[in-house]
Amino acid sequence: MALRDVKVCLLGESGVGKSSIVMRFVSDKFKQALESTIGASFMTKTIFVDGSTYKFQIWDTAGQEKYRALAPMYYRGSAAAIIVYDVTRETSFQAVKSWVHELHRHGPAKIVIAIAGNKCDLEDLREVREKDAQDYARDIGAIFCETSAMTAVNVAELFDAIEVHT
Ligand code: GDP
Ligand code: MG
Repeated sequence: MALRDVKVCLLGESGVGKSSIVMRFVSDKFKQALESTIGASFMTKTIFVDGSTYKFQIWDTAGQEKYRALAPMYYRGSAAAIIVYDVTRETSFQAVKSWVHELHRHGPAKIVIAIAGNKCDLEDLREVREKDAQDYARDIGAIFCETSAMTAVNVAELFDAIEVHT
């Protein structure tokens, strides 16, 4: 049976829900107050799809968002990058664009980019239209979905899509 290691890194502004997405995917849990720095910034999860085994190695930037110089450590050797923004914070969506530029310039040549608009459960506070993000993602050839780590919307689907594209 085929076994594939897929290294995935999470990028995006602080507070958008990167660690929450990882926790939802790895242990199907959600915590209202996550410590902003989790000691272990590396987690694994194995999934089985169509007779193949995929072992995700997930690198969470865990509080290091401020130190952009460290980012290459995360995306180097990654098959995919998940760039997360918060649908209730327009500035976090603008930050996605700068991460995309950085990956295009300095990231692995064939890295798969996925953009996740997280906190889609907070519809009343929305600042970023789904269509604007979707159009942007299409223009740059990225996977796109809106997620909620809190209500478990589209988190597994996000990783499924990455598995298909890597
Ligand atoms: P990180 O800094 O990007 O790792 O963000 P965290 O995962 O630490 O989440 C920041 C805050 O947003 C925490 O208080 C989370 O509970 C909250 N949060 C994360 N995901 C969601 C979500 O999908 N919906 C809502 N309503 N809150 C979320
Ligand atoms: Mg975090």
